Formats: sequence, structure tokens, C-alpha cells
Amino acid sequence: MLSTQPQIKTSKLLIDQFGRTVDYIRLSITDRCDFRCVYCMSEDMSFLPRDEVLSLEECARLVKVFVSLGVSKVRITGGEPLVRKNALWLFEEVGKLQGLDELVLTTNGSQLEKQAQNLRNAGVKRINISVDSLNADCFKKITRTGELDKVLRGIQAAKAAEFDNIKLNTVLMRGVNDDEAFALVDFAIEQKIDISFIEEMPLGVVDHSRESTFVSNVHTLKQLQSAYALIASTENTGGPAKYWRVTNTSTKIGFISPHSHNFCESCNRVRITCKGELYLCLGQEDKIDLMPLLRHFPDDDQPLTDAILSSMAIKPKGHDFDLRRAEPAVIRFMSHTGG
Ligand code: SAM
Repeated sequence: MLSTQPQIKTSKLLIDQFGRTVDYIRLSITDRCDFRCVYCMSEDMSFLPRDEVLSLEECARLVKVFVSLGVSKVRITGGEPLVRKNALWLFEEVGKLQGLDELVLTTNGSQLEKQAQNLRNAGVKRINISVDSLNADCFKKITRTGELDKVLRGIQAAKAAEFDNIKLNTVLMRGVNDDEAFALVDFAIEQKIDISFIEEMPLGVVDHSRESTFVSNVHTLKQLQSAYALIASTENTGGPAKYWRVTNTSTKIGFISPHSHNFCESCNRVRITCKGELYLCLGQEDKIDLMPLLRHFPDDDQPLTDAILSSMAIKPKGHDFDLRRAEPAVIRFMSHTGG
């Protein structure tokens, strides 16, 4: 059992060369997923062997060190985090850490029917559930293996578990599901939950040209404004989304727009892959490997702490996504870096 008190006493915070404070980590606990979303993965994926993936104990230790360095928000993601065996143990350990304000989760919802209440009990505050279509055939076409009904039951389980907030994440693709923006917003309103539209990003090589399916959030917002009374909200969750409130409802609509609105200037996060690579930016290659430090110094967190502190010097100014380029901006998939 890990102690709940961070061991390292340091006044140092994670501040990068551009003066941005990093207080948010996104930790991918597996590269595996039960879905194969067409914008996220290729049909034929190979996954990492077990010994190249951080153990759950190593994940917990890493989070503890980050929290000792001022990180107050942790998102557990993947791959699909809830398909990892015993993932709940990690949520319980992280949920106990003093100094952590928010433990949150991104999931495809397929396991929520069974796990939502336990996750809530472990201290997960908010939950993002990826849903790209409410049409079972289209849902299958996008996810390749997913079952919409199961995910809808997962959403109901999450509602019953009373998370502080539930938000749908949707990637619209031209000619695939871009006719569903209204239906998805209506669903969110009916369910009294939020929804964010994420512009498709050129991460990894997929079976279509990103440019051919790209839907700009500028377009989606305009479309939605023709049907709903939307009020720009000043609320933000410290992230890249711009929010709009739907008048007379409890629903907020977020837009995460790496192309039409570059959000890097206020970036407060870093990402850790399931093999312990600390990526300083979703859209760049700058990284350091933490796994050797975890494994060579099992009882000493200082080398790990020093490496994390020094990584701030290489956090890039921002991504440079360009859909017109034939090759992806970065070769790794979102499921590798952790969405
Ligand atoms: N399996 C979980 C899920 O489905 O939410 C967590 C991992 S998934 C990689 C996290 C988020 O990344 C999902 O909302 C997904 O839609 C989004 N995503 C994956 N690839 C993307 C891409 N190329 N562009 C934009 N969003 C992407």
C-alpha cells in the first residue's frame, strides 16, 4: 500500500520556459482499447507487450511525485482505461492523495455499466464519455467494434452514480457523422449533461485523409447557433475548450479547436504514456522517458523528480497541426499518447 503523503518536500512547481505552470497530467494506463475508432486507430493495431507497460503501482508512484510538484488535476485515459485489469485499484490510490483536487476520467463508456459507481466511490469527480453517433450503424462504422446500446447504458450508470459532471466528447467527420450535431446536442440537453466537439487531429496514420473528413468547429458552432440560443460562457476547466451555455437548459457545449483556435498559449498540461514517456505536447515529439528512472530507482523518487522538473525546459511553445500535409503531424496515435 502506498502512503498517501507525497514524500518529497519541495517548493518547486512545474513552470516551463514560457512561464506556463503545469498543474494537470493526463496519464494513459493502457494503449489497448475495445474500440477501433477510425480517426484514432488503424484497423490493424499491435499493442505493447505487458512488461513494456507501467505497472499500476508504477502509475500510482508517478502520480504521487507529480502531485508533490504541484499537480492538482489528474486525468486517467488510454487506450480505454477501464479495460485494464484492476484499474479500479489505481483510481482508489490516486483518489486518496492529499493535494490532488480533481481526479477525472476519459472513457468510451463501454465498461461504465459495471464500473461507474465504484469509480465514483474511488473519488472520480468528472467523467468524459466519447460518443460520436446516436445511430447504431454509424456508431459501429466509426468505432468498428463498439455497441451503442452498451455505451448508452454506461451513460445511464454514470448519471445514477452522480458524478459532479458528465460530458460527452464528439469528433465530427465530414460525410460520416457531421449530420448528427443537432441530435447529439438534443441528447445532451435531454440527459442534462454537457457535450464537447473536438476537431479531428492528424495523430497517427489512419485509413482516410484527415483533410477529407475535417469539420471545423467554427462551422459547427454556426450551425448550432441557428437552432439554439447560445450564450458564450466565461467558465473554463483550465483546458482548451471554449464553452457556450444553451439557454434554459443545464447543458454547456464546448468546442476544442486545435485548428480553428490554437490554444497552446495557456497550456497547463503534460501527458504520460502507458510506457512512461512524458510528452510535453500532444502535437510535438519532445519527451523524456520516465520508466528507466522508475525501475532503476525503486526506492528513491529524487531522480524522477529531477527529471520531471528539468523537462519543463523542453516543453514546446505549441503544436503545428497542418491538415494539408500528407503525413501526420505526429506519427503516434492519440491512443498512444493518451487522449
Ligand atoms: N478510450 C477513451 C475514449 O474513447 O474516450 C480514452 C482515450 S481516447 C484516445 C480520448 C479522446 O481522444 C476521445 O474523446 C477521442 O474521441 C479523442 N481522439 C482520438 N483520436 C483523435 C483524433 N485524431 N483527433 C481528435 N480527437 C481524437
